[in-house]
Parts: sequence; C-alpha cells; structure tokens
Amino acid sequence: MSLHRRTIAELARGLRAKEYSSVELTQSLLARIAAAQPALNAFITVTGEEALAAAVAADRRLATGDAGPLTGLPIAHKDIFCTEGVLTTCGSRMLGNFRAPYDATVVAKLRAAGTVMLGKTNMDEFAMGSSNETSFFGAVKNPWNPRRVPGGSSGGSAAAVAARLVPGASATDTGGSIRQPAALCGVTGLKPTYGRVSRYGMIAFASSLDQAGTLTASAEDAALLLTAMSGFDPLDSTSVDLPVPDYTAVLERPLTGLRVGLLKEFFDKGLQRDVEEPLRAALAVYGKLGARLTEVSLPNLPLSVPTYYVVAPAECSSNLARFDGVRFGHRCEDPRDLTDLYERSRGEGFGAEVKRRIMTGTYVLSAGYYDAYYLKAQRVRQLIAGDFTRAFTQVDVLVGPTTPTPAFELGAKTADPVTMYLNDIYTIGANLAGLPAMSIPCGFADGLPVGLQLIGPHFAEERLLNAAHLYQRETDWHRRMPGAYA
Ligand code: GLN
Repeated sequence: MSLHRRTIAELARGLRAKEYSSVELTQSLLARIAAAQPALNAFITVTGEEALAAAVAADRRLATGDAGPLTGLPIAHKDIFCTEGVLTTCGSRMLGNFRAPYDATVVAKLRAAGTVMLGKTNMDEFAMGSSNETSFFGAVKNPWNPRRVPGGSSGGSAAAVAARLVPGASATDTGGSIRQPAALCGVTGLKPTYGRVSRYGMIAFASSLDQAGTLTASAEDAALLLTAMSGFDPLDSTSVDLPVPDYTAVLERPLTGLRVGLLKEFFDKGLQRDVEEPLRAALAVYGKLGARLTEVSLPNLPLSVPTYYVVAPAECSSNLARFDGVRFGHRCEDPRDLTDLYERSRGEGFGAEVKRRIMTGTYVLSAGYYDAYYLKAQRVRQLIAGDFTRAFTQVDVLVGPTTPTPAFELGAKTADPVTMYLNDIYTIGANLAGLPAMSIPCGFADGLPVGLQLIGPHFAEERLLNAAHLYQRETDWHRRMPGAYA
C-alpha cells in the first residue's frame, strides 16, 4: 500500500520494520503537500528543511532502537500553535510576520515524542469561523469537492488529513472547530476534555472553551497522538493534574452493555434528511456491537448557540486586546498619535469576523449590559452543563450528528453570520460543558462525508476512543479517500 494511504499506527510499524525511513516518508509527503497546495491551500507554512533534519534525527533513533511509538512520524500543526522560530500567524494579518520565540506545550510534547513537523495548517482567522473563509491567507478547499468548504476553523488540518498529505494534525476546538471540519472532510476529530491538554502557547480565542485535540484518519491514531500530547502543565493554570493513560490500551474492549443515548434535540427538523440516514445506520452498527440505545433529552441544549455567541466574543474581546501594534501584532505605517496607532493597527490587522466578535464581546461586557447578556449567558451555560451531568447518570455516551448538513459551497454563508453560526448547533454544547467529544466518518450524503458525533463525561476519552475504534473495525468509512487524492 502506498505510504500516504497508511494510518499513523501502520506507518509506525513500517518505520520500525525498516520498510522505509522517516526521511523517505517525509520526502514523499512533502511532495504531496506541494502538489496539492494550489488546489487546497491547506498550509500557511511548509517547513521542508526543518522536517528533513528532524527525520534524519528520527532515523538515527530508529536505528539504535531508541524510538517511541511516534518517532519519525510526519504531522502538521494548526497555525494557532506557537512553533519556535517558525511563522505562527493564527490565520491573521495581525500576526502575518510573527515567528514564535517558543513552542506551545502541544508542539513541544509531540516534538519530544519524535514526530516530524511538516508545516503549519491554514485556519479561520483567530479560529473564528466554520468554513475557513475568514483566513487572511485565503480559504481552504474541501478535498472531496473543491467548490465546497472544508469546515472551520481547523479546516487546513482537516483537509490535509482528508487528502492524506499528512497522517495526522493538531487542531483546536472552541465551539466545534475540530469536529465540524472532521465531519465535513470525512476524517476523525477528537476534542478532549477541557483541561486535558495544555493551552500554553496556543493563541487564545475564548479561554474557558479552547481545547487542543487531533485530526487523524482513525480513532487509533487519535489515541496515539492524545497519549503524547496530554498531561498537566504548570504553564497552564487550567490544565488538570490527572495521570495520562495509554489511550491505545483499551481500544479493543467490547462494547457489550454500553449505554448509548441518542440526543433527541439533535434529531430535529434542522437536520438534513439525507444526513440522518447514515447516522441511523451507524446506530444500528452500535446495536450490533452490543450497545443499548435509548433516547435522551437535554432540554437546554437548543440554547447553546446564543449562549456561546455571548461567552466566546466576550472572552475574545479581552484576549485580543493585546494586539495593539505596540505590545503585539501588526503596526500601521506613520501613526499620527497613539489613538491613530491603535485604531489603524487594529483596523488593518484584523478581518471583518474578528472585528464583529470584538465589538459584540465589548458590548456584552459593558457596564450597562453585563447582567443582561454576559451574566445571563453564564447562567444558561450552567443549565446546559447540568443537562449533560444528568444525562450521564443514565447513559455512558451520547451520540448524534456532528453537523446539520454536509459541506456547503464556498461563499454560501459568508454574507449572513447567523446562518454560519448555526453550523455549530450540535458541537457547541460539549464546549460549554467542557466535555470530550469526537466526530467520526459514518457515510455520505450527496457524495460528501457525514460525521457521527460521540460525547462523553469529563475525562472519558478512553471510552469515546474505544467506541469509535470498534465502529471503525466494523466499517470502512474512515478508509475512504477523495478520488483526486487516493
Ligand atoms: N465556528 C465556531 C466559531 O466561529 C467555533 C470556532 C472554534 O471552535 N474555534 O466560533
């Protein structure tokens, strides 16, 4: 089988068996990235030279038997993660020439595990978006159909994995930015529990929601990467001090008796009919695997989108205040005075969606409206979290669609922010409650991939990965590749 068709787990076996070297693997994927870049625009930066140097070092470790499970494996990082000495733009003109002076913890951990970074993937500006169209560096295209969006904000990472330019990539999820592009590109996305993975060096959007995770071809690969990237980090005060299990250890555990709850509110009239069919078929697979299916209602869940669009902009308006042209970020030419410097630097550096969020956030935090919007949203957030807590006394895993529709056309929703926001209607709840969640490919609608979402209780990543892996043993949706890149 050609190298790009293999999963991380398979590639790792081949490296250890000396079927090919990390340098050969790296070279072949760098060639794929270069060939696909004009059509997909999945990367902002490709770090070919550094990658080959890292691959040489990895081959040396592989030769001496001093290798870990990920040694020599090429991956990409979303351009939201700081990478020492390498351009880190967060998809924005504001950071258009920013070379990070240090590695994010996620990057450092994956580097220490021996992975080889091939480059930085394109994304919506400051991770605000659901289609990758807000990137200063241009939209990413969906490998299944280049007139369609790949989803966002981690669309570059998702498209790169879907087109098998890399076997895995890091990503972040504040309101769905791992799971939604995973669904739209037909790959496996994992958003861990809030606090499981350090946010240090991950450029902040909405700090109480942001969480780093993975985009891969399989759940097994997600388990491999998560094991390497998780853990307590004294540099992130919200990272949680719990031991990191080997997430690959329990993948094969039988699902007999697993209580699976169908999210009633997610099978509503907003769900496109032809998306529902593959989902129902996926549920039947779980039935066959021994799971017990019941319907569960989370009555406050429909309030997720309005709640999120108060909380996330509020936090972003505060986080993005640092980009003022003085301390951080783009500086305008020849400012007249300090006010002019702030206004023009921020005016030029940020795109329209980021400005919209900063203005919304500043408004909901202002003295006259704080109680009416921000405080109220925090209360509703608690109600939503409470719904999940109650549900998890009855079931082990919640399932539903990841998105209401498959990938939409580029430009179809850019004129209407609210229509765009509604794309995240099924993903945001898990962020508001801090829960781990996954999206796995479960079929097609109109030739485009459909994602099944799994949500678990806090720190139940093992259970989710186990359930996803056994589904992937029974089906081959995760093995399907877009024709042009197979
Ligand atoms: N699409 C959502 C937004 O625009 C979520 C983004 C994210 O998860 N980073 O805010």
